[in-house]
Amino acid sequence: MTHEQLKNQYQYVEPTYGRFDQSLVWGSGSLCLDLDGKEYIDFTSGIGVNALGFCDADWQQAVTEQLSKLQHTSNLYYTMPGGELAQLLCEATGMKGVFYANSGAEANECAIKAARKYSHDKYGDGRYEIITLVNSFHGRTMATITATGQEVFHQHFMPFLEGFNYAVAGDLEDLKSKITPATCAIMMEMIQGEGGVIPQNKEYVEAVAQLCAEQDILLIVDEVQTGIGRTGSLFCYQQFGIQPDLVSMAKGLGGGLPIGGVLFGEKTHGVLTPGTHATTFGGNPVVCAGGCQIIKTITAPGFLEEVVKKGEYIRKALAAMPGVEGVDGMGLMLGVRLKEGIAAADVVKAAMAEGVLVLTAKTKVRMLPPLNITYDELDRGLAALGRALAQFA
Ligand SMILES: *Cc1c(COP(=O)(O)O)cnc(C)c1O
Repeated sequence: MTHEQLKNQYQYVEPTYGRFDQSLVWGSGSLCLDLDGKEYIDFTSGIGVNALGFCDADWQQAVTEQLSKLQHTSNLYYTMPGGELAQLLCEATGMKGVFYANSGAEANECAIKAARKYSHDKYGDGRYEIITLVNSFHGRTMATITATGQEVFHQHFMPFLEGFNYAVAGDLEDLKSKITPATCAIMMEMIQGEGGVIPQNKEYVEAVAQLCAEQDILLIVDEVQTGIGRTGSLFCYQQFGIQPDLVSMAKGLGGGLPIGGVLFGEKTHGVLTPGTHATTFGGNPVVCAGGCQIIKTITAPGFLEEVVKKGEYIRKALAAMPGVEGVDGMGLMLGVRLKEGIAAADVVKAAMAEGVLVLTAKTKVRMLPPLNITYDELDRGLAALGRALAQFA
């Protein structure tokens, strides 16, 4: 099949995505091939999903072994991968329980429902408001686009949900002014991903956590993009010295298979009782078996230290490249600020032609390479990116 023939089939796929003019057919580690056999170094991980790159051998074995035993049972039964993954996640974080969802948006839906039920159980009607941050991104369902603090998402689909308010990130006074007796939770990303790779200020996050604790307002941290080792710790909040009440996750957790989840803390553990929340596919044993391998690999001694080192290695290389103003982010979640007049989308296209896949995040070039990328792959990808940037300098 040719790329043109494949594109022709896509006339039958609804046009909700702006795709690159490219079909990928094969990958191994941080290397992949398109239909014409052209090689690319992948600095995208499928937007932070392929935590261990394409077709990692241990992950593939865990998934295929489970696939040959039992692919699905419904949540009316216990399965071994579902138990093991929950225990791994809770023992690594000190959180008390997991709810399994299938995506980031669904994980956030669950966190929103849990926060509202916590408040309703304890305080009765009327305490349901959730404050999120301006420029945040929390998903595409009706509740999570409402939670998303960007005006562009608040079009076309009216009416949006009631009970959301938005505070300016980093501005504690603004947040305080938005808190009312109806506030039940504050939800935030530690690094705004889709918003442009913008890390929160540590003092601000600590102050928010303290404010939440004082007023029994739940702190929800959206770790859908920052979680699962991406920023150099299992979860990014661990580097901010806080203990959230609810943590949502997804992207990297399945290593490429769809899964989401929420971690419940001391206060929220047990709030969602039988019948109050559910999903058919949640905790699928094949996906959870892959997830167990992902968690075991990234929590093995030395792995996350390497993530941090590779992030620093990339920063150092980028600093010497033409057109680069600076680099934001943590670990292997990086946003490259470009010099005036250089458009991120143009750089991404040029980079692809040179043989490296990168992303944009607002005006920045975003990099989310696989966490186990080798230095050899990094060097190849960075050289290609350097050639692409040189075309704009
Ligand atoms: C990607 C993302 C989501 C949405 O996840 P989906 O799996 O696409 O529903 C939510 N929050 C953050 C921070 C994300 O990066």
